Amino acid sequence: MATAPQILVLGSVNRDLIVHAPRLPQPGETLRGQRFGSCLGGKGANQAVAAARLGARVALAARVGLMENGAAMVEQLKGEGVDIRAITQPADEVPGVALIVVGAEDAENQIVTVAGSNGTLPLAQVEALELDGLRWLVAQQELPLESIARAFERARAAGVKTVLNAAPFRPGSESLLPLVDLLVVNALEAQALVATLGGAADQPRALAEALRAQGPAAVLVSLGAEGLCWVDADGVQHVPARSVKAVDTVGAGDTLVGALLTALAEGQPVAQALAFAQAAAALAVSRPGVQDAMPRRHEVEQLLA
Ligand code: ADP
Repeated sequence: MATAPQILVLGSVNRDLIVHAPRLPQPGETLRGQRFGSCLGGKGANQAVAAARLGARVALAARVGLMENGAAMVEQLKGEGVDIRAITQPADEVPGVALIVVGAEDAENQIVTVAGSNGTLPLAQVEALELDGLRWLVAQQELPLESIARAFERARAAGVKTVLNAAPFRPGSESLLPLVDLLVVNALEAQALVATLGGAADQPRALAEALRAQGPAAVLVSLGAEGLCWVDADGVQHVPARSVKAVDTVGAGDTLVGALLTALAEGQPVAQALAFAQAAAALAVSRPGVQDAMPRRHEVEQLLA
């Protein structure tokens, strides 16, 4: 089937509610804010949209409650070209939400997330996932860890490569590492994971090697404006970031993951896929917003040309 997805994202869908204020409020204080916006977010949704914009055949497996306009969130994902057949929509649950206060000049923020229906994604939904024809299954850490573990076990048994984006950091997620083919983490997440395992590295290469020893064939440690460090059986690659004026770096990692898997699913060699992902992430950080900032294929190709 030519249209079968090659990438399955198992992840969260949130509504981001964002207010801009002159500064962050003190406990008990009420401030007069300047702007309000609401948009689709959640790491699962972000990574699926990043991949779809770049031309990947990508499906999202998620749980989006129908209360509080959850149906519109799923429609929006469909409009982005994401295959939504593996999204369940319980009538009596509220979707995940992230309440975000941005202080003056975007310099600081406060975020509270409530998992909502993301937190109830059941094992039965994972057992029902259609894996035929898939190349990659990617999960982040905003869902129950036992559902992620079971999905990885099923994927591996079906010959599908597993990717863990261990974000946000959660104690206990180190138990997933033996089931992971590719681990993607930023430097802080890498340090937290290594510390949980009883180690104490701080250089990217040492962090990646310590994590690779736990099972993943490849580890990518992303380093913000410094680019990334990739370690696999062939050795270490340091790939500098593209030099851009960063406007909004929220969601950079999600664009990186979506773009990397798009390129790998197309069969691009690792070095080329890493360059593609860095270009996509650089474009995303050069514009405001998260999904709003994610680039289209032709923009990435233009930057790489
Ligand atoms: P996360 O968003 O998960 O914390 P990072 O901050 O490491 O992840 O960023 C992920 C990727 O986004 C980097 O590897 C890089 O390609 C790109 N990126 C992030 N910040 C910048 C920046 N200031 N300039 C250029 N690229 C950036």
